[in-house]
Amino acid sequence: MINQFFPSYTIGADAYDAVPGICGAFGKTAVIIGGEKSRAAAEPALRKSCEGKLEILGSFQYGDNSTFEAAAALEAIPEVQQADMIFAVGGGRAVDTAKIAAEHLDKPIFTFPTLCSNCAPVTAVCVVYHPDGTFCKVWYRKRPAYHTFINTEVVLHSPRDYFWAGIGDALSKQYEVLFSVRGDKEVPYVRGLGAQIAGNCSDELLKYGRAGMEAFDSGRITEDLERVIQLVIVTTGLVSNCLTGDYNSSVGHAIYNGHTEVEHDREYLHGAVVCYGTLVLLTMDGQYEARDKMLAFCRDLALPHRLADVGESLATAHRLAEHASTKYDLDQSPYTVTLDMIEKAILELEELSRDEK
Ligand SMILES: [Zn+2]
Repeated sequence: MINQFFPSYTIGADAYDAVPGICGAFGKTAVIIGGEKSRAAAEPALRKSCEGKLEILGSFQYGDNSTFEAAAALEAIPEVQQADMIFAVGGGRAVDTAKIAAEHLDKPIFTFPTLCSNCAPVTAVCVVYHPDGTFCKVWYRKRPAYHTFINTEVVLHSPRDYFWAGIGDALSKQYEVLFSVRGDKEVPYVRGLGAQIAGNCSDELLKYGRAGMEAFDSGRITEDLERVIQLVIVTTGLVSNCLTGDYNSSVGHAIYNGHTEVEHDREYLHGAVVCYGTLVLLTMDGQYEARDKMLAFCRDLALPHRLADVGESLATAHRLAEHASTKYDLDQSPYTVTLDMIEKAILELEELSRDEK
């Protein structure tokens, strides 16, 4: 038996008005789980839309990282146990923690992304960290959230860095997925479908990303902004749900996962590091035309394209390649990706921006 789920979602400045109609079929009570800032951003409008129709039993901080420990703490809260459904509010880590708790408690979950930064709201996959912040594992629910409500007004008022880095993360999808499936002789129906959808993800972002960023910066909800939000949250999620884990990522995410294992001068956002890693992938694989197009886009939007942009240097390049080369993200590749190949690509990419200030 195959169970295949696709993201179902509502997008708009009034997206929360659809909550009672869609969630009402699953019960009468809900709890809100999220981060402090995200709940402050979304909760007033969400509660208002539920008034007289759905009872909110409580609102809880998810923890401080997506860990099994944080999920277990949520599972122990009486209101969470009593509620008919869980409303997960926030970015990737808050949503993933709530997804784990909801799965353990066997409750329907609905997601309310407050950031446009990744596909966590619409996917079954949860990225789990150790309490010390290092990467633990990728963990799967049986299904993604039942429905996602994207309030564009809330996203528009989210921190710029997350929106910017979200574009960087989504840019990886097309290149990583198509690289991962390239070696397959037999492509099952759903995987082929995922690869087809991935095939226009980065192209669309390269085309509309700047206009979306400009709309965000000027505080306007435009078609370009809505398109970028849907590319970052929905298209990438659609692809993720069609592919098993190791097909969904490659060198870009291996670089990020390796990057988390070393202390840096400051925090670098997931999408920002993945963006850099994707340029490494395209360089390593000799996809120079695509690489140069993405590199020009990254320069235009000041997205990471040099070691220094992600807190690394020529002195740490070998170590970064070494950490990346051991990651599961590389398991599904058309050829064996070695430490040497990654390091060589890092140095080759660096050379292209040598004269940049
Ligand atoms: Zn990612």
